[in-house]
Amino acid sequence: MDGTALPETRSTCPYCGVGCGVLLRPDGQGGLDVRGDPDHPSNFGRLCSKGAALGETVGLGERLLTPKVGGKTAQWDDALQNVADRFRDTIATHGPDSVALYVSGQLLTEDYYVANKLMKGFIGSANIDTNSRLCMASSVAGHKRAFGTDTVPGTYEDIDAADLVVLVGSNLAWCHPVLYQRLLAARKARGTRIVVIDPRRTASCDGADMHLALDPGADVALFNRLLVALDDAGATDPDYLRHTTGLAEALAAARADAAAPTGLPEAQIAAFCDLFARTERVVTLYSQGVNQSTRGVDKVNAILNCHLATGRIGRPGMGPLSATGQPNAMGGREVGGLANMLACHLDLEHADHRAAVREFWQAPALPDAAGLKAVDMFRAVGDGRIRALWIIHTNPAVSLPEADAVRDAIAGCPFTVVSDITARTDTARLADVLLPAAAWAEKDGTVTNSDRTISRQRRVLDAPGEARADWDILAEVGRRMGHARAFDYSSPAEIFREYATLSGVAGQFGRDFDISGLADLTDAGYATLAPCRWPVTQTRQGGRFFAEGGFFHPDGKARLIPVTWAPPAARTGPRFPFRLNTGRVRDQWHTMTRTGLSPRLSAHLAEPFLDIHPADAARLGLAPSDLARVTAPTGGAILRARITDAVQPGQVFAPMHWTGETAPSARTCALIPAACDPMSGQPESKAAVVAVSRFDAA
Ligand code: SF4
Repeated sequence: MDGTALPETRSTCPYCGVGCGVLLRPDGQGGLDVRGDPDHPSNFGRLCSKGAALGETVGLGERLLTPKVGGKTAQWDDALQNVADRFRDTIATHGPDSVALYVSGQLLTEDYYVANKLMKGFIGSANIDTNSRLCMASSVAGHKRAFGTDTVPGTYEDIDAADLVVLVGSNLAWCHPVLYQRLLAARKARGTRIVVIDPRRTASCDGADMHLALDPGADVALFNRLLVALDDAGATDPDYLRHTTGLAEALAAARADAAAPTGLPEAQIAAFCDLFARTERVVTLYSQGVNQSTRGVDKVNAILNCHLATGRIGRPGMGPLSATGQPNAMGGREVGGLANMLACHLDLEHADHRAAVREFWQAPALPDAAGLKAVDMFRAVGDGRIRALWIIHTNPAVSLPEADAVRDAIAGCPFTVVSDITARTDTARLADVLLPAAAWAEKDGTVTNSDRTISRQRRVLDAPGEARADWDILAEVGRRMGHARAFDYSSPAEIFREYATLSGVAGQFGRDFDISGLADLTDAGYATLAPCRWPVTQTRQGGRFFAEGGFFHPDGKARLIPVTWAPPAARTGPRFPFRLNTGRVRDQWHTMTRTGLSPRLSAHLAEPFLDIHPADAARLGLAPSDLARVTAPTGGAILRARITDAVQPGQVFAPMHWTGETAPSARTCALIPAACDPMSGQPESKAAVVAVSRFDAA
């Protein structure tokens, strides 16, 4: 077949939350030619190394091609009936909270919507959570505290228009590379200043004007210093503050926090505060270094406080911007695919909201309390409260904190279903039932990126073997559990229309998320849907929020939240003297089930490693490329030492990608304690405590 004769298809990159548009053309040999979509508003044709290598990752690899029950190949009919029967029997015996769904920011919005509807509306439990809990749950909670809803105020165009961009806990150059390219282009075009706030000197510091290598977890202390400095400098905005409450309380807390340690020289703090105070167009872009913390929500609100106090929000070139890690973390928030949320930004704890959703779905049951968030969910699997578990497109046996305990919990669960594209993951190996799912380029649906832009993913390849779309698998189980009408879907377009209609109900409650303008989309309209930023109603499309106030608390005002510094939960000491930071590398994605298939990507960094400061390495007798034994209270790992002053003395860094399959001794998440932010439930993945020693294989 001459693949060059085929037309290109517009779709969206399945990796990070930037949500770049791609143009795809089958190459006639089972692969894809990929280039950036010049018309997509996220990337305007740009791609990073991962996006550019997408075509190398769509081959069969080790795809799961047929359902398996008890390790044996099964018919779909038998596998689905088995899942429906075991879930129904477990619920009948132990109640609806004895089952759970653990899903993923890799799911398309339509998949997510059906999963959430099945669990909350028809099983009657809120025990559905997602690996996005590890990514942005603290931002969701911080937004809701400040704004009344989980609203992202600004857009990517603000990066282009800013005069100062402050990156907090974000290695944008590696983790959201196309946004970093946009930032560098802005710097070239208008001289945008860049400040990086991160304990580690990352690739993002290469282009920065200032790097504040603060102590791990000191973000609240630093932004409290900034709030006080803004007030002292007369840089707060009295006109805008009419749209807010709580400045006095937030300032009192910040002033009381003046002696909280940051690890930074006073002159550097003063220079940062001065730059922020005298620059109107400021974007503060933050990511996992803020969110993945036992004080993640407070960190988010400390940042939001500074933007609200100065009125630098919702106008071109200014505002806070949370960069989501996954391609559809935002879509999952919109459909309510987290244990503490209802669909379409409605609130689980609000009786009128519950009644509206129950009526809309014609649901027999709807929980009135939050379900178990990710870490607690797997604790409940471990202690037997959850007895039937369905894991979709994620690998918690590797990626959750205390990964060894999570792996043991899944192994001991009476019934575990895994839907995935491969049976090769550590989690899939533990499943009683394996369901082959269609991969990124094989299914249709939508995703939402970090700036609220909804984009289509489009099918360009046939799913191999018997693999099926996730919405189809979930709907089939719903029907077999006795809910034929509610899950009688024939296409993702039909699901999208139902979801858009429900968002209109949310709009009637004055919620931010409303895409009811898309509720009447025809199949043809869905097929050709161009990227659009929500809200999409009859009267409004896209834009920014909050330039003139209009917050979603009952009084219409934002809240400045008093917050105070506290150290990370785990304390260093004689047994565990090092602070362990974890994160991504440039060319790998999550547990490498896709990026690991690309030799080009694997050439960047071929094996797991531990970055350690030269002074610490010398004290421990570690030479470059020695193996280091890393021991935490919860597990251990053997990693190749990289000696670098990019990390500070007493701190080490390890990537999170390598798994039991690719590197059995490098399960980094086994080193992370299951300590979580009390509001968001997001684990503290950036501040574990470990001991390090030289590993002698002999
Ligand atoms: Fe894909 Fe993110 Fe790279 Fe864009 S920046 S090409 S969405 S991985």
